[in-house]
Amino acid sequence: HQEREEELLSALNESQRKAVEYCAGPSLVIAGAGSGKTRVLTYKIAYLLEKGLKPWNILALTFTNKAAKEMKERIAQITTAGEARRLYMGTFHSIFARILRSEGELIGFGHNFTIYDETDSRSLIKSIVKALGLDEKTYKPAAVHNFISMAKNRLITASEYAEDRAALNRDRIVRMPAVYQIYKAYEARCRQANAMDFDDILLYTYLLFRDHVDVRKKYGQLFEYILVDEYQDTNFAQVSIISQLANTHRRVCVVGDDYQSIYSFRGANIDNILDFREKFTDARLFKLERNYRSTQLIVQAANSLMKHNERQIPKEVYSEEGEGHKVLYKPCYSDREEAMVVAGELRRIKRDERCDYGSFAILYRTNAQSRPFEDEFRKQGIPYKIIGGLSFYQRKEIKDIIAYFRLVANPDDEEAFRRIINYPARGIGSTTVQKIVDCAQHHAVSLWETILNPIGYGLNVNKGTLTKLLAFKTLISGFIKKAALTDAYELGSEIIEESGIGADIRSGRDPEDLARRENLEEFMSAMQDFVDIGREEGREENVYLTDYLQEVALYTDADKKDDDTPKVTLMTIHAAKGLEFPTVFVVGLEENVFPSPMASGSRREVEEERRLLYVAITRAERHCILTNARNRFRYGTMQVDDPSRFLDDIDASLLQEENNGSDVFRTQRQKMPWDDDPCKRSGGSTREYEPNRPYTGSRPWGQEYRQMGARWQNANPVASQFRADPKPKITER
Ligand code: ATP
Ligand code: MG
Repeated sequence: HQEREEELLSALNESQRKAVEYCAGPSLVIAGAGSGKTRVLTYKIAYLLEKGLKPWNILALTFTNKAAKEMKERIAQITTAGEARRLYMGTFHSIFARILRSEGELIGFGHNFTIYDETDSRSLIKSIVKALGLDEKTYKPAAVHNFISMAKNRLITASEYAEDRAALNRDRIVRMPAVYQIYKAYEARCRQANAMDFDDILLYTYLLFRDHVDVRKKYGQLFEYILVDEYQDTNFAQVSIISQLANTHRRVCVVGDDYQSIYSFRGANIDNILDFREKFTDARLFKLERNYRSTQLIVQAANSLMKHNERQIPKEVYSEEGEGHKVLYKPCYSDREEAMVVAGELRRIKRDERCDYGSFAILYRTNAQSRPFEDEFRKQGIPYKIIGGLSFYQRKEIKDIIAYFRLVANPDDEEAFRRIINYPARGIGSTTVQKIVDCAQHHAVSLWETILNPIGYGLNVNKGTLTKLLAFKTLISGFIKKAALTDAYELGSEIIEESGIGADIRSGRDPEDLARRENLEEFMSAMQDFVDIGREEGREENVYLTDYLQEVALYTDADKKDDDTPKVTLMTIHAAKGLEFPTVFVVGLEENVFPSPMASGSRREVEEERRLLYVAITRAERHCILTNARNRFRYGTMQVDDPSRFLDDIDASLLQEENNGSDVFRTQRQKMPWDDDPCKRSGGSTREYEPNRPYTGSRPWGQEYRQMGARWQNANPVASQFRADPKPKITER
């Protein structure tokens, strides 16, 4: 044992080693990017296993399921003790959803509860707004859901919300004084549907532990060691659950970096890190200062950027990886040129360093920015993959199929019911559906319950409709009977065929239908994989539909299984957390893009945007390239923006500016009239925006500039290559 432990520890530096070895009480590792925080967690778990702790006594919370999977694999490699797959390791949501499946009955949820995604939540809110007779223009589902979500993250239930002065006041100010009513109805209808949304998973876990001391004790006992990665992005609900569980053994180790706190819009609070030491007063603090990921100039550039933030725990980070290259800054004329420049630079580095496409990442502020890169990469035959955006599981045909599965697993699921009651078309119109909803509400039962006994509940429909409802009921009931006996893949295929979805998807002849067919196939093979893996792991001899749904509900693109061909990764900076790539392009560094126009309001928000850039730069190992576009197609028009203010925040000696070498571009650029427009010089940064109101991005002189740009482009053969499409095609991926 001693030997194995020593061997483990030898892969760490002195401070990492200390952090791993300290197991007597709570500890906190605060350290900059790339300094080995995740490595410390990984080795610490291996170390604990070597020490004889059982894997199921260790709870480890990560930010994505993929991160958990990778960590498990790594642990399995570096230790022979204990079976890594039996660790309680995953995201907050996946771990606590699992616990709620076995304990949920105590708080009124069946083990087969559905997890509503955002679309489901919004659709339910829409229906409630209608039912309550509120103005649909005022009560936009997304905004209402956001308020409810924020409340849940602060552990405020619907009944507490109605008493919460601050929340009510705020709602009055934004002229949505009935949010508390919607929240109440939302809660009730989720319960009737035996469904929870993402935030509920945390809220109900907290309530379960709060109100059932025996359950809390049970899990408190079970988890002898608790570890949390990316602690800076936990919200109040998550932090509260951790302290509920950690109070028994008080052996908890959290790692994080306040510089990388980028989820405050989801309720994450940078103060959580600071509060940790208040809650666990005896917590030992460890600092790691050596960055192993990036070359020196990159680390220094990232540090210099962060000097401009006020709210932070000061820390030094240095690298010994060699000096490396300066951060490169390449301003471009248009978004299309930006994509060309990135592709060119990428090819150059690939050639010079003989690396594959997997070494590159393109990071942007919002998903919508991926389009020009996709176009360009396709044109040049550069393989790429996009993480995020419209996820595979969000596609219509996939959601339809999953809705069937959901209804079979949990017939009370209201959103699934409404989605498929008339898909494929079976002559049950929206009036009938509304009648069912009203009737169900009247009797406070689920929609399914209502059609099980339509006459008993006094459902007022004609005989023809009744027959159709009966047929639907029989169809679903047939599947339900099989659900506990048939494996997920087999039952899934049966549902797809017998419900008529398969035929519907195969019947179309358009190119889009082809894509739908491919999606169906991909879905089937993913399901097959899931069943196979489940069998291999020997979790159970059979993998059922409910097991499958449990996974799928919390599945994101970041968790997707990769095939082996190396590809350039395109994703938002938010999605890139914790990852690393030899070369990173951070694109779209303009005012009104990055910092986001939504954030220009307050210093606090701008600081968060700056941290976001810090996260982006620190993903890079050897090359970090920043780009922006003077002209960009956004909101359907050409927008002209200044370079991002953050470019000035990076120490000039660490940044190398490089124009495209096209003289035409440079001389022309000097002639731009906005260059000596004093209004423009103060730029987007000084204007004020009202929070909660979408920024329209229109500028009074926009039209004139567009004409200018067009004249210039027409007169200039090189520039005309960069002309943005007159009408951007907005198509869904
Ligand atoms: P982030 O803040 O971005 O999540 P992190 O602090 O979690 O970063 P890691 O991802 O754990 O950092 O480590 C960054 C890189 O440095 C990894 O490739 C890791 O393997 C390597 N590394 C960390 N510590 C050491 C070490 N002592 N010896 C060799 N490599 C190390
Ligand atoms: Mg990490």
